[in-house]
Amino acid sequence: MKLAGVLGHPVSHSRSPAMMNAAFAELGLNWHYVRLPVPSALFVATVRALPASGYLGANVTIPHKVAALELADEATGAAGAIGAANTLSFTDGAVAADNTDAGGLLAALGEPVMGSTAMVLGAGGAARGAVWALREAGAEVSVWNRTLTRAAALAADFGVRQVDRPQAADVLVNTTSVGLDPATTEEDLIDALWLDGLDPPATVVDMVYGDGPTPLARWAVRGGGRVVDGLEVLVGQGALSLEWWTGRPAPLDVMRRAARGP
Ligand code: NAP
Repeated sequence: MKLAGVLGHPVSHSRSPAMMNAAFAELGLNWHYVRLPVPSALFVATVRALPASGYLGANVTIPHKVAALELADEATGAAGAIGAANTLSFTDGAVAADNTDAGGLLAALGEPVMGSTAMVLGAGGAARGAVWALREAGAEVSVWNRTLTRAAALAADFGVRQVDRPQAADVLVNTTSVGLDPATTEEDLIDALWLDGLDPPATVVDMVYGDGPTPLARWAVRGGGRVVDGLEVLVGQGALSLEWWTGRPAPLDVMRRAARGP
């Protein structure tokens, strides 16, 4: 049996094991995917031990994405440009790093963004992947964050525009963690993300996901917008990771069903 897993801390909430194991079963592959809860102090030693334990790859989530890139022997252009990796591949004793969050976001969007305007909310790790992906795909990207200095730094890193408050755009992508708490109301969301007075754009992506529609999704749907939810982005990045490890096309519908649960 070949092994893969998701390294994070915490990682108990991750839907990746259900999604990836469903995909391996559908493809008839003798692979198994597990949760790997690892604190930061043990991250490098754990990754170094994985290949000898039968692991061919791993996904990486909070808080290890930067450390994953730093320890890798080689990295894709996406991982290098974003400055973080969410996927590791182990071959011949070497660790290769990729960032499939970026491609996963574009896949989840499902339509080209070339020539579109994109408004990215947030300036953390997820924002870096989103800004890079949208810019590479030809969108005109603006970035807003509660802490304006972080948005300014991100905008300078990627050569995009920083704005003082969210602005109208063809696509709005929420990469903040606002809405993660299920008690968040639409009013809370509008206050936290300064959305007062802004009409929902035609397409809204919420990286946050939970058991039901997020407050941002409710806001977008009320305004007639199309919502791409965080689970679709999760499926997109997981599909690209699986294809990198196995060389097989990912069974997207099976992964979607498994990620969304019973
Ligand atoms: P992060 O690096 O910690 O960044 C958090 C961001 O949220 C920062 O921009 C922060 O603003 C903002 N924020 C937090 N609380 C806020 C509040 N009350 N009001 C306004 N802004 C607030 O986290 P991350 O790694 O980028 O992840 C962000 C979210 O994306 C998480 O919910 C994560 O689960 C989700 N995510 C989903 C996927 C997926 O596949 N669907 C992939 C990656 C991440 P400040 O800079 O002002 O603190």
